[in-house]
Amino acid sequence: MSTQAHPLGISFEFFPPGTEAGRDKLLRTRDALAERRPRFFSVTYGAGGSTQARTRQIVQQVSEAGITTAPHLSCIGSEKSALRDLLHQYRDEGIDSLVALRGDLPSGMGGVGELRYANELVEFIRAETGDHFEIAVAAYPESHPQAPSFERDLENFARKMRAGANLAITQYFFTADAYFHFVERARALGVEAPIVPGIMPITNYTKLARFSDACGAEIPRWIRKQLEAYGDDSEAIAAFGEEVVSRLCQRLLDGGAPGLHFYTLNQAEPALAILDNITV
Ligand code: FAD
Repeated sequence: MSTQAHPLGISFEFFPPGTEAGRDKLLRTRDALAERRPRFFSVTYGAGGSTQARTRQIVQQVSEAGITTAPHLSCIGSEKSALRDLLHQYRDEGIDSLVALRGDLPSGMGGVGELRYANELVEFIRAETGDHFEIAVAAYPESHPQAPSFERDLENFARKMRAGANLAITQYFFTADAYFHFVERARALGVEAPIVPGIMPITNYTKLARFSDACGAEIPRWIRKQLEAYGDDSEAIAAFGEEVVSRLCQRLLDGGAPGLHFYTLNQAEPALAILDNITV
């Protein structure tokens, strides 16, 4: 990871845009965020490998700013031979960090593939490429939506870390205690690696509500009610969102979180505004 990194382990996540205009906007966002000296940028991967080529291309372009750039990689629906080729391509292109995920199979798409869970992907990456990659995996302080119970999800998470992951990034959440509880329980199961909270700036209530329903992240009632009351007043939503999420970040850092990973949705301003509000 970059030696010039910010003292706090901040990182920023992007998605691979589908248009030229989207790509130009993303590169402007990257430049604005690069000034904060993040530890890394990451670029998401479409379900079932649907953005594979775009993710690779965007990773290369984003990494031209000289900051470590980690592609996300999911295993569900993929064959080992295809994953092996992609790992070797990334290694040859100078990529040394990955975010390893199971992913979700889009409805109507074929079989689950040869690796069913992210712990199997982490094992596979280690078997194929040794210690070349720093591997981040996903964590769910409020439980993964398909998990049969909190305990089982936590055990599955600990197994994934033992398979050779170096750090975890959480799904976003708005309740700091959910994070502290998860970290405490993971430590009790022997997980020592950093668990970095994933932060979702609030800018658009409709999109946030849709995302949160899909990924199992809870929007506390008091936040939901307040956002609903603002209707389509986007300035009021952004101002309230900035205040709520800045306060959450400050609490997380004061309570010992090792950094912050921002789900930027390819926008610089919301994350920058939050970073300006917090003290490290
Ligand atoms: P896993 O860790 O495999 O867990 C999935 C479920 O299976 C959980 O319920 C778990 O409890 C259970 N489980 C795990 N291991 C086992 C086992 N060995 N036996 C039985 N049950 C098990 N999605 C994308 O498509 N592209 C992305 O780029 C992307 N980036 C993400 C980044 C972050 C930081 C996060 C938090 C999520 C991201 N996702 C992405 C979403 C993610 O793919 C989904 O949440 C997916 O449903 C689970 O992926 P996972 O890697 O957490 O799976």
